[in-house]
Amino acid sequence: MSEDIFPDEVKLVEAERRLDITWSNGHVSQFTLEYVRGWCPCAVCQGHFQEEWNYQEVAKPQLLDVLPVGNYGMKLVWGDGHDTGIYQFDVLWAICTCAICDPEGARAKERVRPRFMLTPGLRP
Ligand SMILES: [Zn+2]
Ligand SMILES: [Zn+2]
Repeated sequence: MSEDIFPDEVKLVEAERRLDITWSNGHVSQFTLEYVRGWCPCAVCQGHFQEEWNYQEVAKPQLLDVLPVGNYGMKLVWGDGHDTGIYQFDVLWAICTCAICDPEGARAKERVRPRFMLTPGLRP
């Protein structure tokens, strides 16, 4: 992931049940809470040695807190006590569902993804 691009602002939009990230290059990602919970990268949700990422269906997840982790990611703390997911910025970038990143709306429908698809990061 490029060191030049990182979240400038992370905002929980409670009324819309959305997590909005404004990136340092001006790009804006708007994730529904279901979606971002679905791709929780932790070992509990994804296993340690899986070759694929599996979407976790969680009904109406509540996001309680967003905590910075180093300079590479953030930890999301969910209402059901699940707090083991450390989302690297390049993972969040790779799952962006905005009209530029995902014009066909395909990402929003994916439920399984090869791991490599979540790691190319921001490098050109
Ligand atoms: Zn998890
Ligand atoms: Zn995007």
